[in-house]
Amino acid sequence: MNVRTTFRCARCDAVLTGALLRVPMPRPGYQPHHEVGFRPVLMTHGTYAVDANGTYVLAPGDVSGTRLVPERCADGCVGIEAEDGVNLVCASCGADIGGRTDACHAWQETRLPPELVRAEDEPTDEEPWENPDEAFGRAPVDDAGELDWLWLGRLGVCATEVLVRSEGRPVHFAGGGALVIRDFLRGMLAGTGHADAMRALGPGERPAIVCDLGGPGRTPVVVEGARSLTVVPGPPDGVAGDEVAAHPRVWAYLAREHDRPPRGAGRWWDEEAPRRISPAEASSHGRHWRCHDLPRHLAGRPETERPWLRALLAEIDAAWRDRFS
Ligand SMILES: [Zn+2]
Repeated sequence: MNVRTTFRCARCDAVLTGALLRVPMPRPGYQPHHEVGFRPVLMTHGTYAVDANGTYVLAPGDVSGTRLVPERCADGCVGIEAEDGVNLVCASCGADIGGRTDACHAWQETRLPPELVRAEDEPTDEEPWENPDEAFGRAPVDDAGELDWLWLGRLGVCATEVLVRSEGRPVHFAGGGALVIRDFLRGMLAGTGHADAMRALGPGERPAIVCDLGGPGRTPVVVEGARSLTVVPGPPDGVAGDEVAAHPRVWAYLAREHDRPPRGAGRWWDEEAPRRISPAEASSHGRHWRCHDLPRHLAGRPETERPWLRALLAEIDAAWRDRFS
């Protein structure tokens, strides 16, 4: 059963959050880099996750009724971190509540250790996936109007799965949103001989593998004699065979939005900068992703022992190191 949880102070029972939907701990793909600027928020508003240690991880904006204690914030060059895990106290009684992170090298988050709060669960029929039909959030833009790192990290996870399933053979992408995956992979593979194996499907071609988006309301392009790799919405580990999972929000944009004119959603930046991810942006993010996030994502996977992938990963590694040497 899925749950919504209201968090309260363990000592005085003061309410600290609304009823938040429990979701799986995000696998963001990207790790924020050490640079000046706003760092993205890990958790989507209205949701929380439980990390491997049992600590609750929330979006900072979902927590109220707390006070930040500057003396308990660790020194960072930009922003704050919790020294010893706690820099927030209950505004009602002063008890320790948890830690707020807003630093230059980490996701923005508020962590509530289970011993400091009381979690009040209520069952819900809602699925612990963000609603892919919601008007906001389809386009990969964060609350600052920038391309959303979490979205792009999830795109990277999906694109990497397409590559792994290809067994090292050329992949033809059917067009539309599928080309965003192609562009990301071309960036990821830049400088290796394999980048040119990620192609757009032309008329009359006889490809070995065709990749397109399938799923609700979407029929993928099928070419006779070619293997189909179909990207469907779902949790990362939820599909097998020739289906590749994309986070529902990534899928919804690629399958339903990318080819359509942008719709203003009423927020101030929508008018100024309606976003459609460009080939150059997808490729550039693919190039960044391969440095650290690709090895992190594939660590421990048995597929990395296969000769073609092992050789390709070595080539990718050499290609990006060359660029910086
Ligand atoms: Zn309290």
